[in-house]
Amino acid sequence: MPELPEVKTIQDQLNAIMPFRIKRCSLSRVADSIVHTPMDHLVGRSLLRVERKGKLLDFILDDGHHLLSHLGMSGGWLIASEWITTKHTHVQFTGDSGYLGYVDPRRFGHMYLYDEPRAAAKLAELGHDLLAPEFTAPYFKACLLRYPLRAVKVSLLDQSLFAGTGNYIANEICAHARVLPHRLVQSLSTREINKLYRAVSTVINGTITRGGVAFGGGYRDTKGDKGTGVQNLVVFYQQECQLCKKTPVVKTVLGQRGTYHCPRCQK
Ligand SMILES: [Zn+2]
Repeated sequence: MPELPEVKTIQDQLNAIMPFRIKRCSLSRVADSIVHTPMDHLVGRSLLRVERKGKLLDFILDDGHHLLSHLGMSGGWLIASEWITTKHTHVQFTGDSGYLGYVDPRRFGHMYLYDEPRAAAKLAELGHDLLAPEFTAPYFKACLLRYPLRAVKVSLLDQSLFAGTGNYIANEICAHARVLPHRLVQSLSTREINKLYRAVSTVINGTITRGGVAFGGGYRDTKGDKGTGVQNLVVFYQQECQLCKKTPVVKTVLGQRGTYHCPRCQK
């Protein structure tokens, strides 16, 4: 599943081709499982820029409407100079000098075309973005402590608190903070909470620099490139912990998600 670094990589690449005037909008036969609002309004309008909150891409239109795009498990946007024939292209915009296609093999993505108030309401369902200036240490601590009986990793995945996290990011944050993912929030010391907060930037910034991560789910950026894979992560999908370089990583299941930790580095 694309998490913040992958969605941001796509966002940055999309912004490089903005503004984009939509001359035609074509939907696949099964696009209605992804596209939840009529798209006719887009024709003749321009996408001015792409913003992002967590994993939700927010295309701003020239009339103030928003096209919100959540990539789900396997969604992505492709930029091309010719008509996109890639399998599973469910939405395609014809522009003045190119094409913009939404590709989603598993069709868990979502798209909404909203006016300003409805878009604002949708965005307000999410907590602060991990890269936003509002995502401060006090905010992080207050959000975490709101649910003291949750496992740390389960709380980190809550998009209404921490917008942009996902399974690999949550695993990696716990590893860098040296905290076991299944620890209850109420058992954390202030020092550990501060370490978790600092680990957020370590993980996010490190992954963005490398253009996102690709694994099972099939992430591709707008050029079809796959990102660098999991080789730069410390515990997620690793045989051996990359922090101590000598302990086998233990895999468990927590909240139905694959969870990885180093029994030596994490307490
Ligand atoms: Zn280790």
